[in-house]
Amino acid sequence: MPRRADAAPFAARLLRWFAAARRDLPWRRTRDPWAIWVSEIMLQQTRVEAVRAPYERFLARFPTPASFAAASDDELLVAWRGLGYYRRARLLRDGARAVVAAHDGAVPADAAALAELPGVGAYTSAAVASIAFGLVAVAVDGNVERVVARHRGVRERVDAAPGRRAVRAQAEAWLDAAQPGDFNQAMMELGATVCAPTSPRCGDCPVAADCVARAEGLAAEFWGRRPPLSTSPRVRRWSSGRRVRSAAASPPANPTPARSSCRGRACWSASTPTASPTSCASASARGCAWAA
Ligand code: SF4
Repeated sequence: MPRRADAAPFAARLLRWFAAARRDLPWRRTRDPWAIWVSEIMLQQTRVEAVRAPYERFLARFPTPASFAAASDDELLVAWRGLGYYRRARLLRDGARAVVAAHDGAVPADAAALAELPGVGAYTSAAVASIAFGLVAVAVDGNVERVVARHRGVRERVDAAPGRRAVRAQAEAWLDAAQPGDFNQAMMELGATVCAPTSPRCGDCPVAADCVARAEGLAAEFWGRRPPLSTSPRVRRWSSGRRVRSAAASPPANPTPARSSCRGRACWSASTPTASPTSCASASARGCAWAA
């Protein structure tokens, strides 16, 4: 799946776009590894706009790992208010305490050492290592998974090992070793602002020229990971991620669409969303999600 020959053009286009389009966010104005670490933890499952004020408030109160390591539970709750998921804050404090105990209070400039800290996984360690220290490490979050899966037409689910390996290998092949922090941020930014989950803006995309999903007219169909089926009896969320009326909807006039126009979308000729289109001879060749 990796295409080394495309690495330089992709990274160059991406970084050129990022230099012009990047959002001005507080955590992008610093290389302080503690500040970047805090931002990455706060941004987990939380919108950027909801993080801005708590981030600045938190760092004003706890400017170093040592200051947060000494925080009481009450202080922790006050500092994290508005963000929810308080377990993140407790793990961050555990991580700060580990930095004080094992690294004299300095965030280690080493991705492997970062990954050993409580609450720091592969993504966060790579993000801090690359953005704060300029280390060559690729950070793969959900946004990056989606961009890679769409751009390279990765049809495996990226929450399973083969798909995850394919996405990571491609991201590593693309990574600009001279600017790993900017590259990682640019990939995340592209996924967050252009290659969005439901309505990708391919017309504004800096890497659209060789995007497989766009070329096949399937940009909105590639999620990379398959969302769960909705429990709603009226709406089922199929593997494409699109909300599609099921029981209450009327099928097309021709309930058996031409195979050539199926293009991997859920097939109205199947009786239930879990059925395989066994009669569709071209499903596998077209990478039909139902045939997977
Ligand atoms: S062209 Fe569209 S689908 Fe492809 S990477 Fe860009 S925004 Fe995503």
